[in-house]
Amino acid sequence: MSSHTGQSAVTVLGLGPMGRSLAGAFLDAGVRTTVWNRTPGRDRELVARGAAGARTAGEAVAASPLTVVCVVDYDAVDAVVRRPEVTDALKGRTVVNLSADTPDRARATAGWAAGHGVRYLDGAIMTPTPTIGTPAAVFLHSGPEELYRAHRPVLAALGGTHTHLGEEIGRAAAYDIALLDIFWTAVAGYTHALALARAEGVGAGELAPFAAGISAILPPVFEQAAREVDSGHFSEPGNPLTSAASSMAHIVHTSEGHGIDAGVMRAAEGWARRAIGQGHGADGLARIAELLSRR
Ligand code: NDP
Repeated sequence: MSSHTGQSAVTVLGLGPMGRSLAGAFLDAGVRTTVWNRTPGRDRELVARGAAGARTAGEAVAASPLTVVCVVDYDAVDAVVRRPEVTDALKGRTVVNLSADTPDRARATAGWAAGHGVRYLDGAIMTPTPTIGTPAAVFLHSGPEELYRAHRPVLAALGGTHTHLGEEIGRAAAYDIALLDIFWTAVAGYTHALALARAEGVGAGELAPFAAGISAILPPVFEQAAREVDSGHFSEPGNPLTSAASSMAHIVHTSEGHGIDAGVMRAAEGWARRAIGQGHGADGLARIAELLSRR
């Protein structure tokens, strides 16, 4: 691809696995790319592919109208961009912050940016590094729509789908946090299941094909729960909370019988029992979202 050659320029601050993937995708698309990382030397391969390696973050951001920041969290973002020479160089330019953190941190960073004449978009990357530059990548963005539209053509070099979620700057981080809540509890559940299966003499490879079957039944469950939570009408499902709580108790019992911590499942069972105690035993698991969001 060479559609961007000579027409656009981007700076990437942060060259961890994700930052390197982002910079590589910009290079592949022909975007003039300047890179910088706190620890020197991480730019070697990118420079060999045509990136400009900046000696300082200030020098890096001065090279492009758009700077993409991708570091571990917003403490790291602050450590990079809130240095006077970097802040000065960013004045009048745009930052797209693709580092992950909380909605509150996104709002605080936007406040800092507004106070220093820095144009600011927040974003989240929902897919792993091999997807970057391919149709499988998923990017979420929030902040001023006009700014998003202005930089959308360059961001398109990252491939995949880009969704602008609205002007409220914390929105991309809010989606990110909620989606990662699903991801990390699912992965934690899987690792726990592997330990439990092993204790029963079942190998991980033996369980894996059936585990894939479990994940395949989730999409319609998610859709049904979303409809119920948004409408506030909870149907009587094939698997009511009374049955779910009983199943969870079996997992707790078997885990603890093998000396395996069952804290996560105990917590989930506790929510189900509370909802049952409030008279919702015939409802499905979606009822728990309402229970947890009550103030
Ligand atoms: P990390 O989350 O490990 O971030 C590494 C980067 O952060 C390096 O550039 C590192 O610099 C920098 N960094 C850490 N602390 C500081 C600091 N105090 N000052 C300056 N720079 C600092 O790796 P990734 O690249 O994978 O992730 C970057 C972001 O992308 C994270 O927020 C992550 O959640 C998000 N993300 C990553 C995905 C992935 O698949 N990897 C998927 C989706 C999102 P140094 O080299 O000097 O240590």
